[in-house]
Amino acid sequence: MRIYADNAATTPMCPAALAAMLHCMEERYGNPSSLHTPGQRAKETLETAREEIAALLHAAPRELTFTSGGSEADNQALRSAAALGRRQGKTHIISTAFEHHAVLHTLDRLAREGFSVTLLDVHTDGLVRPEELEAAIRPDTCLVSVMYANNEIGTVQPIRELGAICRARGVLFHTDAVQAVGQLPIDVQADHIDLLSASAHKFHGPKGVGFLYARRGVALTPLIEGGAQERGKRAGTENVPAVAGMAAALRESAAQMEQNAARLIPLRDRLIEGLQTIPHAARNGDALRRLPGNVSFCFEGIEGEALLLLLDDRGIAASSGSACTSGALDPSHVLLAIGRSHDVAHGSLRLSLGPETTEAEIDYIIENVRDVVEYLRGFSPVWRERAEGKAPFVL
Ligand SMILES: *Cc1c(COP(=O)(O)O)cnc(C)c1O
Repeated sequence: MRIYADNAATTPMCPAALAAMLHCMEERYGNPSSLHTPGQRAKETLETAREEIAALLHAAPRELTFTSGGSEADNQALRSAAALGRRQGKTHIISTAFEHHAVLHTLDRLAREGFSVTLLDVHTDGLVRPEELEAAIRPDTCLVSVMYANNEIGTVQPIRELGAICRARGVLFHTDAVQAVGQLPIDVQADHIDLLSASAHKFHGPKGVGFLYARRGVALTPLIEGGAQERGKRAGTENVPAVAGMAAALRESAAQMEQNAARLIPLRDRLIEGLQTIPHAARNGDALRRLPGNVSFCFEGIEGEALLLLLDDRGIAASSGSACTSGALDPSHVLLAIGRSHDVAHGSLRLSLGPETTEAEIDYIIENVRDVVEYLRGFSPVWRERAEGKAPFVL
């Protein structure tokens, strides 16, 4: 059996996106900046895609800027809000400790440039508390950035409440919605969102394309200088086929959103229930306020990396929270942010289901995770210590 359970890392492209891209590459090869007919036809494709995507988010077409993906959109959102803040003498930014590195590393850089950054606590359930945001806002706060749904533990934040607080206090609100777009209904107006990042390859579109929504009146600072494409907000000839693929993928995701969630949630909960029967295992993140397809666990006494490789041998593609940087295995900053110890955070596993996932696959995953966890614990010194009572179990 070959099971793809890593849809939070990336998704396979849907046939509609592929067809739209092929059509575009064959027929719409013109440069959208050219005045001749092939150019204008390419421009038409680009603008139709923009209208379509904007409508799905309750935004206006001119509020969308196409980017190379989620990371670029996050960078540009934060840099733009910081520049606007600086001009008003406001240099305080609020975010959370479990954001994507595209946000956290941009914040690090802004901190080095003189901004002060407050990171909100995300609590053990993986959720921020609106009242804590309210309390953290200062007269010099220029931006709040809180992700819509977390990519590792899948928790979905109370975005509408957070947005309302920011709007009432006159602070710009950015959300990294890369994991949410195409999965959850998003309304930038009702949610009081000023800036929103998205990426096509997380909703069955192509890699290397995404968009940044910026509410009318929120000026974007270009990260790339050059031609006047994207109203001067992002230079470079537009990636028309990728944008067309993204629009087709989002159209399809939006059309199937409800039935997809209705199918995935029972599968997700079946998987969570099954994994919970493994001793000394714990779910990460709230049981209900999570993405329809996200399952995240910690297993005491094992290394997530080893678990991952052995599951791959058995045909299961999953992910662990650990990131291998310069040969050292760092535990996930997300799991540390929700209060997991280093030890326990190392034994993490994320399974992210997709529209193809079946019940038989879920049962196969449960059986094999149980098996592999038991096998790995068999020669884990950390596990032995605990099993022999020399150290206490944490989970
Ligand atoms: C994948 C992801 C990103 C980065 O998007 P890219 O298009 O791969 O650059 C940013 N934020 C979140 C939450 C993600 O899951």
